[in-house]
Amino acid sequence: MNLSEIKTIFQKELKSLFPKTEIDSFFYLLTEEFIGLKRIDIALNPNKKIDSEIEKSFNSALGELKKEIPIQYIIGETEFYGLPFYVDKNVLIPRPETEEIVAWIINEIQEKRKDDKDLNILDIGTGSGCIAISLAKNILNSKVWALDISEKALKIAKKNAKLNGVTIQFLNNDILNLDELPIKFDIIVSNPPYVRELEKKQMQDNVLKHEPHLALFVKDENALIFYSKIADIANNYLNSKGKIFFEINQEFGKESINLLKEKGFKNIELRKDIFDVDRMIMGEKI
Ligand code: GLN
Repeated sequence: MNLSEIKTIFQKELKSLFPKTEIDSFFYLLTEEFIGLKRIDIALNPNKKIDSEIEKSFNSALGELKKEIPIQYIIGETEFYGLPFYVDKNVLIPRPETEEIVAWIINEIQEKRKDDKDLNILDIGTGSGCIAISLAKNILNSKVWALDISEKALKIAKKNAKLNGVTIQFLNNDILNLDELPIKFDIIVSNPPYVRELEKKQMQDNVLKHEPHLALFVKDENALIFYSKIADIANNYLNSKGKIFFEINQEFGKESINLLKEKGFKNIELRKDIFDVDRMIMGEKI
């Protein structure tokens, strides 16, 4: 077989599930993964022959795409904040909106910082480690800690720390049942589960069927359970003038402001993401 025949098969077999451009981008991502050729290389040699082993790999990826397994899990790797990250079904696939919160934290620190002293940062519910690792990589003298309830997620996060050449202190704990932390922090950040069960209806199948529910869902009647608990911990374990950053459910902008106010945080700021919905919030401990 040659590449253009594979591409035609992909278009035919996946057309009821995805738009044409998305199928093409799956094909090119897989081509790069399996034979190391970029889109431009293929444009120059569209009928390149492939051997039967590679053909098998394309076929098996096609089978997975038909089950709506996300391409990032099929390839096993993705990119976040310009860095590579391994991903599998035990961790959420990092989202572009989460890159925005990382950018916010980095800017906030760079603007306000008066010295190069160590900066202790804690990421709660780290998953793949994308927030913790991109902060460690971009903030001078940061000492980053990352906590998760899932041992399997932490295994991936550890691999990612190694892949990106940063040292992170990992903690395997359930934040809802944790009242003490080993040290005090300057920044606490979290992108906790925030999708209500009632929102399942609006979710895409690839997310709903394949991404870890442990990382996504909260009970309808207690949607801010993680925010409330993390704000309490932050009250005890943030240094004075320390900051808390949360990624939030777009429906809960006002409620998140109120929650941080009630917990005594000051200089609260809510921000929208690229999709123009309330997505992240910051508060300062006085
Ligand atoms: N933003 C994610 C989604 O769209 C949810 C992330 C989370 O629950 N923390 O599925």
